[in-house]
Amino acid sequence: MDAVAYALPLRHRFRGITVRQGLLLRGPAGWAEWSPFAEYGPREAGQWWLATQEALTEGFPAPVRTDVPVNVTVAAVDPQTAYDIVAGSGCGTAKVKVADPGQSAEDDLARVEAVRAALGTSGRIRVDANGAWDVETAATRLAQLARVGLEYAEQPCASTEELAELRLLLARRGVDVLIAADESIRRSGDPERVVALQAADVAVLKVQPLGGVRRCLELAERLGLPVVVSSALESSVGLAAGVALAAALPELPYACGLNTAAMFTADVTAEPLRAVQGRIAVRPVVVDENGPWRAEPSVTEDWLARLSRASGAIDE
Ligand SMILES: [Mg+2]
Repeated sequence: MDAVAYALPLRHRFRGITVRQGLLLRGPAGWAEWSPFAEYGPREAGQWWLATQEALTEGFPAPVRTDVPVNVTVAAVDPQTAYDIVAGSGCGTAKVKVADPGQSAEDDLARVEAVRAALGTSGRIRVDANGAWDVETAATRLAQLARVGLEYAEQPCASTEELAELRLLLARRGVDVLIAADESIRRSGDPERVVALQAADVAVLKVQPLGGVRRCLELAERLGLPVVVSSALESSVGLAAGVALAAALPELPYACGLNTAAMFTADVTAEPLRAVQGRIAVRPVVVDENGPWRAEPSVTEDWLARLSRASGAIDE
């Protein structure tokens, strides 16, 4: 089996990193990606490996649409940069990072207002706090941001219980913001608790953390919530699995968070899976085997060592 690590620089710091690394592998069904974030241990990374194996050996289910709508993603940048990213994106929906360490409520509000100015009144804005707020802070911040107009707020608090509590508090205060669950779906170990506690209006599904396209399709059916497919900041090879999921879902009411190839300055293919006028076409990704994306051989060795620990930790 061919395996080679990639290293792709980011235009702006995101999730605390400036270079994204992962492993590309080639199997009978084509190229696949394995790229659990550096801080994830073997058990969690093992779930990601299930998704990689699907792409390597089976490929993806048949699509029911030929392209998927996507949002532009705005990191915790200054307002002018946020405006420029959105204005140049061609997307009508923007996902804006909020609650980043070292940033204030005013910073977040200024960024979201700049995004509103770039999108116009018909554009849709979703914010993602990655679980950073407690319930009261979330209710206060979301009431403020809601005045700019929010499609939904993604994982404003860390736990599923807090999300449920927040939904009640927002309703009591008359703040009309939908809640999307991301980490509560992919990291809690109990995604169905989101439904049991009525903790969210929307489910964010990511293919690698949830163990593959087919597992995500089954989960979507069990949850019964509208689904937004998002990337885990993968190369275009990993993104293709997310696009395959978005293309295979029976319903796709929201733009997906799959336009993250636009956040890199390089990719593993000459034709990255990037949006054109807010949509990504469902198509194969052809790896540019000798491109500058290849990491040093020692990086590949490190990733293969990590993979052997992760594949040993899988409990199916
Ligand atoms: Mg998220």
